[in-house]
Amino acid sequence: MRYTVLMNTFSEIIGQEIVVSHLQNALRTGGVSHAYILNGAKGSGRHMIARSFSAALLCENPRQEGDRIEPCGECLSCIQTAAGSNPDLITLEREKENSIGVGDIRRMRADVQIKPYSAEHKIYIIPDAEKMTPAAQNALLKTLEEPPSYAVILLLADGTGSFLPTIMSRCITLPLRPVPEKAVEDCLKERFGAKEDRARLCARFSGGSIGRAALLLENENFANLREKTILLLQKIEKTNAAQLASFAKETVTEEETRDLIDLILTWNRDLLVCRSTHSTENLIFTDEVQYIIEAAQTTSWQGLQAAAEAVFRARRRLFSNVNAELTLQMMLLEIRAAYRMTDMRAE
Ligand SMILES: [Zn+2]
Repeated sequence: MRYTVLMNTFSEIIGQEIVVSHLQNALRTGGVSHAYILNGAKGSGRHMIARSFSAALLCENPRQEGDRIEPCGECLSCIQTAAGSNPDLITLEREKENSIGVGDIRRMRADVQIKPYSAEHKIYIIPDAEKMTPAAQNALLKTLEEPPSYAVILLLADGTGSFLPTIMSRCITLPLRPVPEKAVEDCLKERFGAKEDRARLCARFSGGSIGRAALLLENENFANLREKTILLLQKIEKTNAAQLASFAKETVTEEETRDLIDLILTWNRDLLVCRSTHSTENLIFTDEVQYIIEAAQTTSWQGLQAAAEAVFRARRRLFSNVNAELTLQMMLLEIRAAYRMTDMRAE
């Protein structure tokens, strides 16, 4: 994974200004709380924020960079943190994949009693904290009620619905927000060396998550599906029903189906945007600009809208667990009919 080459600094966190400013304030004033909940979806940057905050708390010579406090990156503690071997930074390990049990928390509680090895703090990161059983939460509560002065516990959670109110009341909850699409795109270009067309498409599909965008960027299946879908849409008017049926049949997994639907919607959206604004500035498929300009001129307005409706209809049907292959097949036939339409008021 490329994440491992990233340093643990606040400067690398994208978006999340409110969370960063809260933690920076704690670092500046020394008013560090004993427990935080970093609440955000997978890929939203919870791990990165937790690591940066931990690195800064444990660093021997934190430095001031502009208005930020950053770990120095050079002291023994920083080197150990980057290598994942800092004895004062512990990530909770659990026995079961799907839940965090009372045994897991008890082991951690025993460890919390042991003073930090060399830093002033001892930090515990609990990934997937929403998976704590109620018994585990009650065990954790005892530590949260009387924490040793040096202990800092970072709960990384995707939603707080499963937390007991008593846990919530003992923690500072920091909500992570989806990152704006443009910021995700810039990040993919600058840090991952992605070309503009890939960066823009993956950003659009990321749901505001840099982690998901980075995964999509490296996901060969997604790249293949993208190529296949573009090829199909470019010649769908001349494609026969059997070919459409076999395309639907090849789309097997739920993930592929969802991505296919989104790819078609995005493509159709590009044609609509190009047709209505006569501009190519905001297109997502930037590598297909020439084709999109031509197709936007020759495809009718009604056809583009009918195609979008066909895709939305298919998406609704898929939600209600109908046969996916048949639904996709019907959708492709409807898109073909839509793209064959001519404008009613055309010559
Ligand atoms: Zn340092």
